[in-house]
Amino acid sequence: MTAFTSSGPARRLISILRQAGITNQQVLDVIETTPRQLFMPESLAHKAYENTALPIGNGQTISQPLMVATMTQLLMQHDCKKVLEIGTGSGYQTAILARLVDHVYSVERIAQLQYQAKRRLRSLDLHNVSMRHGDGWEGWRSKAPFDGIIVTAAATEVPQALVEQLADGGVMIIPVGDKQQTLTVLRRFGDTIEQQRIGDVRFVPLVKGDLL
Ligand code: SAH
Repeated sequence: MTAFTSSGPARRLISILRQAGITNQQVLDVIETTPRQLFMPESLAHKAYENTALPIGNGQTISQPLMVATMTQLLMQHDCKKVLEIGTGSGYQTAILARLVDHVYSVERIAQLQYQAKRRLRSLDLHNVSMRHGDGWEGWRSKAPFDGIIVTAAATEVPQALVEQLADGGVMIIPVGDKQQTLTVLRRFGDTIEQQRIGDVRFVPLVKGDLL
């Protein structure tokens, strides 16, 4: 099993996340000991523990640690065992989730990013992840329902397919909007959907288009 270890820069990042209001100790521990430098080009590794988003190629970014922490904390307020992630990207958020829940299903439209993410997760001995090269607007119907759904790209509207794939009592964390985006928490209770707006955010778009 991989040793997940801490370091000075990782501890400094954790104190920034704490000051910014992240209180879930399990989430903080997992972020502190997951090597973020593995999830970016080597030339950027010296910035791995800065609280910023960074380019990962193909016009995409690895999300800011505070955003990963915020979304993960929101998800973990509910008893999520089986989680669907839309937008694997670097695989960093996937790795954090894999260390906290039973199983992560992750969908990505760019094959090259998906391939790299798969290798990184394997190198960390994280095997409770299934990946699909597909369109996140469609979710992953054959694996539904999910206790939790986390979308790491901004959707112009909440994808109906994702609402349908949410378990009764399940929670979805999703940035909604185009130029103006709002991080939104959506809960499903039978046919009733409750939405709560968390705050303004900035994500790359959840693309409507062909797979790459
Ligand atoms: N959580 C990732 C975020 C990556 S950025 C990380 O921290 O690394 C968002 C990702 O969503 C990109 O990899 C992008 O290719 C992917 N994406 C965008 N539109 C998509 C769609 N329709 N279906 C699946 N993935 C999509």
